[in-house]
Amino acid sequence: MPETLLFHSDFDDAAAWTDALRRELPDLDVAISTRPYDPAAVRYALVWQPPVGFFAPLVNLALVTNLGAGVDALVGRADLPGVPVTRICDPEMARMMASFVLLAVLRHARDIPMLEQARRERRWHWVNPRTAGEITVGILGLGELGARAAREVAGQGFRVKGWSRSPKSLTGIETSYGLGALDDFLSEVEILVVMLPLTAETRHLLDARRLALLPRGAKLVNVARGAVVDEAALVEALRGGHLDSATLDVFEVEPLPQDSPLWTMENVLMTPHLASVAIPSSAAAQIAENIRRLRRGAAPLFKVEAGRGY
Ligand code: NDP
Repeated sequence: MPETLLFHSDFDDAAAWTDALRRELPDLDVAISTRPYDPAAVRYALVWQPPVGFFAPLVNLALVTNLGAGVDALVGRADLPGVPVTRICDPEMARMMASFVLLAVLRHARDIPMLEQARRERRWHWVNPRTAGEITVGILGLGELGARAAREVAGQGFRVKGWSRSPKSLTGIETSYGLGALDDFLSEVEILVVMLPLTAETRHLLDARRLALLPRGAKLVNVARGAVVDEAALVEALRGGHLDSATLDVFEVEPLPQDSPLWTMENVLMTPHLASVAIPSSAAAQIAENIRRLRRGAAPLFKVEAGRGY
């Protein structure tokens, strides 16, 4: 009997994933959760935010692959079966994220939000552009996506500082780690880029006190998870002028509620959680490789460590 991989996502293109996976593993049966399938045949699940109870009938499940890098919606679920959980770790996804971060950093560094405001007011507002080397960019999180983005930003000549949980050595990046180093890190950063997973430790890590440690006029870019930043404190910091402007791709509640003040704040650029996505044509190979590994009794790659939450 062929093994089945069960696909579930309300966002991703099921047909594209099915085609890409079948090209990699022609003997694999790919089922889509919205159509009839035999739960007992399911060995592998490729999922993005499956509903509660999704895993219960999958009694022969051997592997859960999160259809993305952030696993906060999966880990800690009471109904997650005791099988390995892996994430997507795709260089193309990292490239897409790095390009978004670069776009946001350059936009802030080149004063574009201020110039957009001047245009709205029909003001010819010439400002002397600063060189990249005069600007310090801080990246919170130096993982698969954060490290790649840090390198891209450093490649533009910015001074780049990176912060992580454990020590890191990255050429051209000044690194520090651990909560003890965070206050000093923040106090030196003009453009802060949030690239941390959402865990018990990082939820509201950037609260009112820590946002106030950023130099006056700092800019914030959040491409990770909304709840890493206390959104109410962020709104206050942006309204009061301590923060100059922000680029937000992620929010504490998504879609962003209609009554959020962020919708109408002119110093906020908002995008609807699309900084980067899992790309079937490149990521299917690593999903197939993990299935092959499981078939020969080897441990899968890119395993999530449940204890630390990412
Ligand atoms: P990784 O899991 O590869 O890396 C996470 C990084 O954060 C690591 O450097 C880790 O430190 C650090 N970190 C985690 N917890 C802490 C902590 N408590 N204190 C300090 N540092 C910490 O993640 P990725 O780089 O692949 O992705 C980052 C996040 O981006 C994802 O979790 C996801 O939420 C988000 N994302 C958003 C997308 C979007 O479209 N907006 C798309 C894809 C991902 P260490 O290296 O020491 O372990």
